Amino acid sequence: MDCIFCKIANKEIPSNLVYESENTVAFNDINPAAPVHILVIPKKHIESLNELNDKDLMAELLFSVKEVCKKLNITDYRTVINTGKEAGQEVFHIHLHIISGRPLKWPPG
Ligand code: 5GP
Ligand code: ZN
Repeated sequence: MDCIFCKIANKEIPSNLVYESENTVAFNDINPAAPVHILVIPKKHIESLNELNDKDLMAELLFSVKEVCKKLNITDYRTVINTGKEAGQEVFHIHLHIISGRPLKWPPG
């Protein structure tokens, strides 16, 4: 399967990994929307939140967000999951965005 995030998770292509747990990895976004922009993904290929049914993996993904922030001393951040094209999802391997390092407006555009 030709999935860029699978290749990052499998370390087939180099990326700036910032954190790894048993079933997740975190790495810097290639096109950061803020000074801190990290993506947390499952190692397993799952297209979107709509296809994620493993509650343990759900918990591990969100826990990984906390672990990344703890490791990098990030206290104020936004966590985003875009699900589906209309909601802005471009890569169809589920990922949790961690965005931080500047004031963030709410609601988003
Ligand atoms: P989405 O729009 O699907 O929620 O977010 C996809 C994110 O993946 C974007 O922020 C984009 O910059 C990032 N991205 C796309 N391709 C790559 C890549 O090859 N490497 C990394 N590190 N990030 C990527
Ligand atoms: Zn994938």
